[in-house]
Amino acid sequence: MKLEIELVPDGCWYSNLRSALPPALWDKIRKDAYRRAGGRCMVCGKKGRLEAHERWSYDETSHVQKLETVVALCHDCHSVVHIARTQMMGDGDRAMEHFMKVNGCTQSEFHRALGEANTLQQRRNLIDDWQTDISWIKRFSEGRAF
Ligand SMILES: [Zn+2]
Repeated sequence: MKLEIELVPDGCWYSNLRSALPPALWDKIRKDAYRRAGGRCMVCGKKGRLEAHERWSYDETSHVQKLETVVALCHDCHSVVHIARTQMMGDGDRAMEHFMKVNGCTQSEFHRALGEANTLQQRRNLIDDWQTDISWIKRFSEGRAF
C-alpha cells in the first residue's frame, strides 16, 4: 500500500525527535524534507502545507529502532500514519476515508491493514529493551543522508 499505518511499539523511544535535537538542526531537517518533496505530500502528492514525519524501522532480532529518514506529508496522510492517536482525538473516520482514497481500497481492506499494524505492534511490544539508532542525523549533518 502507498499509505501505511506506522504504529510505534510501547517500549520505544518515541518522544518526537524534534524535542531531542537542537531546534536549529530540527528546522534544517524539516525544511530539507519539504524541499525534497517539492511542495507536495510525498505519499499522496497533495500540494499545500506539509508536516515532517520521522520514519523508523524496527529490527526484532537486534532490538534496534532505527531512524530511516524524515519525510514530508500532508496533514491527512500524517493522521493516517499515526492513526491510534488520530482515533483518540475523534478523527478516525476522516483518516480511514483518506487511507481508502489514497490506496484505492475498500473499508474491509483498511480494517485488515489496521489489524495487521496492531498485530505487529503487539509483537514488538513484547521487546522491552529497544535501542535507538539515529545515525541518520549524523549523516544528514554531514550531507550524506538519503
Ligand atoms: Zn498526503
